[in-house]
Amino acid sequence: MTDAAFDRDHLWHPYTNVMAPGPTFLVERAEGAWITLQDGTEMIDAMSSWWCMIHGHRHPAITAAMHAQIDRLPHVMFGGLTHRPAVELGRRLVAMTPEGLDHVFYCDSGSVAVEVAMKMAVQHQIAAGNPGRTRFATPRGGYHGDTWKAMSVCDPVNGMHHLFEGALNIQYFAPRPPITLDEDWPEDDEENGIAALSRLLHEHGDQIAGLILEPMVQGAGGMRFYHPEYLRRARKLCDELGILMIFDEIATGFGRTGEMFAADLAGVTPDIMCLGKALTGGHLSFAAVMASGHVARTIGGGEPGLFMHGPTFMGNPLACAAACASLDLLADGTWRDRVGAIAQRMEAGLAPAREMPGVADVRVLGAIAVIEMDHVVSADAAHPISRETGVWLRPFGCNIYAMPPFILAPHEIDRVCAAMLRLAREL
Ligand SMILES: *Cc1c(COP(=O)(O)O)cnc(C)c1O
Repeated sequence: MTDAAFDRDHLWHPYTNVMAPGPTFLVERAEGAWITLQDGTEMIDAMSSWWCMIHGHRHPAITAAMHAQIDRLPHVMFGGLTHRPAVELGRRLVAMTPEGLDHVFYCDSGSVAVEVAMKMAVQHQIAAGNPGRTRFATPRGGYHGDTWKAMSVCDPVNGMHHLFEGALNIQYFAPRPPITLDEDWPEDDEENGIAALSRLLHEHGDQIAGLILEPMVQGAGGMRFYHPEYLRRARKLCDELGILMIFDEIATGFGRTGEMFAADLAGVTPDIMCLGKALTGGHLSFAAVMASGHVARTIGGGEPGLFMHGPTFMGNPLACAAACASLDLLADGTWRDRVGAIAQRMEAGLAPAREMPGVADVRVLGAIAVIEMDHVVSADAAHPISRETGVWLRPFGCNIYAMPPFILAPHEIDRVCAAMLRLAREL
């Protein structure tokens, strides 16, 4: 049986029917922005392998740090033991995240980070004398991961909540933030979405532990960019009502939007912040939850004081070493110009799509470029075109989008734009 045949017959891929799988390419290796298939075909990874490979594949500084760590201490338990990579990473994260997020919880993946953040919020409320506050509020159109608690705050339609009825926690959904990033913020709260959010939070406040949202960019829920004033006003509401504000920066963190964090873009500091995806420069699965001193003190000062979470691979030294190396690459700040250049060139390169039939919207923020169609685009139909264009793109829903590594050269950016235009024309 060939590798391709075994894969087709036995391996589940993300969101696929194992009895009727879509097409897959066999990848042999990858370097920088490029993926090489087993048959020798080369493609630019315009997805950054689901948004995480910000410095490109197999970055020499990251792989060198991983080699050094693997020869010393690939893993050790974090209960009762600690190690330099965890401490070094913690120092960097506390210094670079918004002021006041001083406490770090390491875990294995984005979805688990969201679980941890939600558990922190509930434990905070119990410790603060509000044991009835166990639910969450969130805007529609969000995506927070595929585990149960994370799934419960994903958009109920995209997230197929009907499928899991009875198995999912009931949460409170506000309308999608209606004002986009490039619109003027209307003063009328009915128009700007704050009135609806305020009603929801006031009505159910005594049951709500936290408001969880993806700041500025709703990613896998639809690639929408919304107005930062929404976050500033939401922050005020949370403060008034004793609701914790949780930012899921798993997609937006580490420069993707043009600022280090979307929180910086909005000038809003959450109480809890989830980091993942690009944390290790995409080289290993790893995540971190940042919490404010207030949250940490409340949990620590209440009953039982312990924060009740501790995964087996918590603080994995190899992942911490990869993350430190990735953050060192961001430390010189040159990513900012490179992301800015990608934004500018993609804005210009995708402009022709605005005139194409079937195109509903074209938008760019940092290294996120989206052609939104007025119909659903099939990822399977895009698959063979990737080989022809030499650009790996995987559309979802109505969106043909790129979230490339920050290292693309101008001619590579042009190639990604040309491939996106071709998909918009043909699909
Ligand atoms: C990808 C993503 C997650 C889930 O992360 P996993 O590592 O896939 O579990 C959660 N939230 C956001 C915003 C994401 O983009």
